[in-house]
Amino acid sequence: MIRINENYAKLNASYLFADIARRVGAYASAHPDKALIRLGIGDVTEPLPAACVEALHAAADEMSNRATFKGYGPEQGYAFLRELISRHDYADRGCRIEPDEIFISDGAKSDTGNIQEIFAADIRLAIPDPVYPVYVDTNVMAGRTGPAADGRFEGILYLESTASNGYVPGVPDAPADLVYLCFPNNPTGAVATKAQLAEWVAYAKRNRAVILFDSAYEAYIRDPAVAHSIYEVEGARDVAIEFRSFSKTAGFTGTRCAYTVVPKTLMAWDSAGRPQALHSLWNRRQTTKTNGVSYPVQRAAAATYTEAGMSQTRGLTDFYLGNARLIRAAMARLGLACVGGENAPYIWVNVGRDSWEFFDLLLEKAQVVCTPGAGFGRCGEGHVRISAFNSRENVETALGRIGAALR
Ligand code: PLP
Repeated sequence: MIRINENYAKLNASYLFADIARRVGAYASAHPDKALIRLGIGDVTEPLPAACVEALHAAADEMSNRATFKGYGPEQGYAFLRELISRHDYADRGCRIEPDEIFISDGAKSDTGNIQEIFAADIRLAIPDPVYPVYVDTNVMAGRTGPAADGRFEGILYLESTASNGYVPGVPDAPADLVYLCFPNNPTGAVATKAQLAEWVAYAKRNRAVILFDSAYEAYIRDPAVAHSIYEVEGARDVAIEFRSFSKTAGFTGTRCAYTVVPKTLMAWDSAGRPQALHSLWNRRQTTKTNGVSYPVQRAAAATYTEAGMSQTRGLTDFYLGNARLIRAAMARLGLACVGGENAPYIWVNVGRDSWEFFDLLLEKAQVVCTPGAGFGRCGEGHVRISAFNSRENVETALGRIGAALR
């Protein structure tokens, strides 16, 4: 009798976004005349930058010609893209990351979800609360936790991010082996200073731990004091893996391209206490389980590093940050404290009441969809996430309606 992986049964039966979709669907079918505005799910709304579209067309032409056609590419990604990333995203910021330490993939979701496979089953996990749910759920699926009680899984050290620590958790007293960090944070929009990241790097060194640093929203950083990469911290090459994505940088959520940096100097230990390079393990994992990302998509990602591509992607992130400014100002007028939105496309609003109750209120009174904070972890209760990913017109209309509903 074939049996299932029962760790899946420990997961919350309904995924946050499925729950939201169910409530929104029920409301929409009961009120077909009301136009909803979605400031909930973190998907972009603006089209691809022109430089990327041109690169996609040119690559499609290459694929149509026998002389330039491409079959399987390197599993780790084409050298042209890895070299551009190494130069622009790292060398230009004073970080030494070699092209062959960069693994191109179809998304930071897959990579942040799959990376746990290269670590032992009984490692100690430290995961922020609130945070992008993929980190917890993939470790639950892999059997690294006990059951959930009261919204928390046994066996995870939760790094609480609250107003009292500015939504940036400090290093805990207890040791952990694998630490997930996400800055700019989803859902709070909080960013960490270089000094705060340095404390995490020191913690990882002390505990012989590994940090998984998800900076999918790096392109939204505007404050010059905020580090764009964990590798800006001295010694981070020896303790950290970094994840980035073209999804929110260049509108690639439907095009799919991201990358993961695994420095060759980063070690973890086997049961005999011998150091093993994680680069070799991840390379083995990737070459076994994926054939990489399509050539046209990698060409489109490479186009973000041209002069036109850089200015167009900057234009996109500036546009969403303009929405974020309007949202922050509207929340301030309503007397609701919020963080985020300055170096991130998310605004984390302290609504001072049950987050699902506030979600329902906005849905019913303003026909605006937000994301209830409780879906991101226990510390998310009392908050909602408002996303800046929408047209200016929709944001302005939604804010007008929220203002009227809460007055
Ligand atoms: N990491 C974080 C923190 C995210 O919020 C998201 C998407 O919302 C991702 C990763 C996934 O990115 P990708 O589209 O590259 O899979």
